[in-house]
Amino acid sequence: MLQDEDLSPATLAAQGLGAAPTPYRDIVPPIHAATTFERAADGSLPGGRMYARDASPAYDPAETLLCRLEEGAAAALFASGMAAASAVLLALRPGARIVAPHDMYWALRSWLIEFCANWQLRLDLYAGDDELAAQLQRPADLVWVETPANPTWEVTDIARAATLAHAAGARLVVDSTVPTPVFTRPLKLGADIVMHSATKYLNGHSDVVAGVLVSRSSDAFWARIKTARAAGGAVLGPFEAWLLNRGLRTLYPRVRTAAASAARIARHFEHHPALVAVLYPGLTSHPGHAVAARQMEGGFGAMLSLRVRGGEAAARAVTARVRIFRRATSLGSVESLIEHRASVEGPGTRCPVDLLRLSVGIEDTQDLIDDLEQALQVATAAA
Ligand code: PLP
Repeated sequence: MLQDEDLSPATLAAQGLGAAPTPYRDIVPPIHAATTFERAADGSLPGGRMYARDASPAYDPAETLLCRLEEGAAAALFASGMAAASAVLLALRPGARIVAPHDMYWALRSWLIEFCANWQLRLDLYAGDDELAAQLQRPADLVWVETPANPTWEVTDIARAATLAHAAGARLVVDSTVPTPVFTRPLKLGADIVMHSATKYLNGHSDVVAGVLVSRSSDAFWARIKTARAAGGAVLGPFEAWLLNRGLRTLYPRVRTAAASAARIARHFEHHPALVAVLYPGLTSHPGHAVAARQMEGGFGAMLSLRVRGGEAAARAVTARVRIFRRATSLGSVESLIEHRASVEGPGTRCPVDLLRLSVGIEDTQDLIDDLEQALQVATAAA
């Protein structure tokens, strides 16, 4: 007989693990709105819960599923991806040393710099695998990796980073928002904690802000993270948790469709006269392609960037001309988004000024190609 362990992650996600949580054998879980739970006469908690800020049943379906998809021991939902990342920082001890990338989600990098300065944590930034290895010649407590990383989609070798981090005495946390568990499973590659902005692909419909951490083990560090969530109070509302759970049901077809489209768009525009470069880990021309091909399973994600010939003015002119791509920040939803990333990141950005970041959705690929072709005519005309 087919065992639960034999089922593919796509099947588990589509059926939300197939659990029937109430006497009605619901096909989808109810929304658990209760903030508090009744004690028995002897003061015990027969339902196993005391207060929703500590552990709400509203989180169970998504936490259990994500734990399974990432092959972890424990998962925790948060009110945002930033809240999830902050809980990891709050679990560190005074004087801890963090090694993090120069190129990563810019708001998290800015927050890391500010937080570490205010809380007297040591922060060392690296660019590329060799600098990471050099930084980890000395002891560290936490290594942060984002791969493929915003907005140039640089790829970090997770297995190598894990070996180096552990040799330096550090835990490895991987922000896997962009590849999702569909394409990369960092815990299997040696990471200790995987983090997602669930606002993106996991929910997938631009209508929930959420975050999640999944840990390889329920150790003391994880207990401190859970305390940071419960005491810090950055918890998700029950309706948002329910929406996230609903989004997770279609994670695999959404992400696979979007990634196949992104790969076709990247190949189509790779040698386009209006572009200086197409940055996509699935292209053999991308510096991280070989590592990505090794550590990503079945696809390279749905994020890519175009560097427009003619610099910032030409790039901005292209965003003004698109009709199907929506001019908005964020990523990972069913609708395709485009943004001039350097101006969104603002002063101090490391993003090239000619770069347009594309989050490819699930629209018809040819429509997206035609949209970019007609928008790029402004850059071609100016060249
Ligand atoms: N990590 C990555 C890669 C992101 O793109 C984002 C948001 O854009 C975050 C973390 C932060 O997540 P949130 O916006 O859910 O707080």
